[in-house]
Amino acid sequence: MKAISVLGSTGSIGTQTLQIIEEFPDQFRVVALTAGKNLPLVVEQIQKHAPEVVALADESLLPELNERLLALSSENQPKNIPQLLGGPDGLNAAASWSTTDLVVTGIVGCAGLLPTLAAIRAGKDIALANKETLIAAGPVVLPELKKSGSRLLPADSEHSAIFQCLQGTPWAETARLSTGVPTPGLRRIQLTASGGAFRDWSTEELKNATVSDATSHPNWSMGKKITVDSATLMNKGLEVIEAHYLFGIDYDQIEIVIHPQSIIHSMIELADSSVLAQLGWPDMKLPILFCMSWPNRQETPWRRLKLSEVGELTFRAPDTAKYPCMSLAYSVGRAGGTMPAVMNAANEEAVAQFLKEKIHFLDIPKFIEAVCESHKPDLQNKPSLDDIISIDNWARIALREEINRGTIKTAIPRMAV
Ligand code: NAD
Ligand code: MG
Repeated sequence: MKAISVLGSTGSIGTQTLQIIEEFPDQFRVVALTAGKNLPLVVEQIQKHAPEVVALADESLLPELNERLLALSSENQPKNIPQLLGGPDGLNAAASWSTTDLVVTGIVGCAGLLPTLAAIRAGKDIALANKETLIAAGPVVLPELKKSGSRLLPADSEHSAIFQCLQGTPWAETARLSTGVPTPGLRRIQLTASGGAFRDWSTEELKNATVSDATSHPNWSMGKKITVDSATLMNKGLEVIEAHYLFGIDYDQIEIVIHPQSIIHSMIELADSSVLAQLGWPDMKLPILFCMSWPNRQETPWRRLKLSEVGELTFRAPDTAKYPCMSLAYSVGRAGGTMPAVMNAANEEAVAQFLKEKIHFLDIPKFIEAVCESHKPDLQNKPSLDDIISIDNWARIALREEINRGTIKTAIPRMAV
């Protein structure tokens, strides 16, 4: 039985991970949960999964959580109350809990960095959903993996597809473990992209895009931030950098292809020109389960793929003019060092401001680019963890200042933030 910790248990990745654990109770058990603010759901998860420890990002909510749990245990039969922790230290302690075998990282954004590092330093295996951690801190995370022997298993569907395809290659032993070391015969990666909420909108129509339009994804049901990232295609840009760090492959060898059906989750091309793909319905449970069962395959009763039901699989090149975030991510990835941390933080802040309706959808890439541009003279090639944390902070402030300065020509009049 594998002991699993779920970081971000109340989110889209977190709840799907818990559904898998519920479905296969002989295979998996929950050891630790961490969450943000959703107390009713945390209480329900504690009752169902009886974790050893629960950590809340916001320490001030701990007394209320404790009260809710005490009230429940006196109403019904007494239940074991887990150890309750809070704040950054609490999250780190839960992420590195001694009895855990695998940590699923479902926290959104760079907030996942320190808990993920804590888990890595404790030698825990990681199912990486929280891509922002690797993108912001690749130069810090990769050496830590080597040092501790912790293994990074990709839960992002595209990277899981690549990882699954690599299992069937002559270099499976080394290539399947993500340490950023180049895989000799891996010639190219083709990352598939659904195209996001606006794939069928013209550039002209995008001028009318609203928050509610940008947060409705045609194929996947996910948290708000990643849904907006999918609409700008920044998600795919972030995934290019994620693939670079995970598989040690050059940016020139990573291609993006729009595949609206989201059935092929990505492809690898090998030295002899053979292309391997992984297919399945768009459902995050499959890549999460593969991390949890790797190197084995768990038998499931899940809906099986029938290509005759799908009908057509189509592909097209992405429109780089309509979606500037993709090219930006390539140049940011190539610049390396602290630049991906800057782009990632600027993107998190820009999406937050967009969700508050302070900036327009079309202005997201403009502000991110401006922040990256102003970081150029200060780029550090071999940043420490402290460098990354302070650069991340700087970029968020710089983006808000950029909005307030009002020098960028925007799609809607700027509003102070
Ligand atoms: P979500 O918004 O649904 O959930 C985020 C979780 O993180 C919640 O439990 C929330 O309470 C917690 N959280 C938020 N801020 C926090 C903070 N400051 N400190 C601690 N915890 C905090 O997000 P999601 O869609 O589940 O995405 C989670 C991660 O997985 C993201 O990095 C995303 O890019 C990645 N991912 C998600 C999907 C998907 O299908 N949802 C697919 C691929 C990758
Ligand atoms: Mg993905």
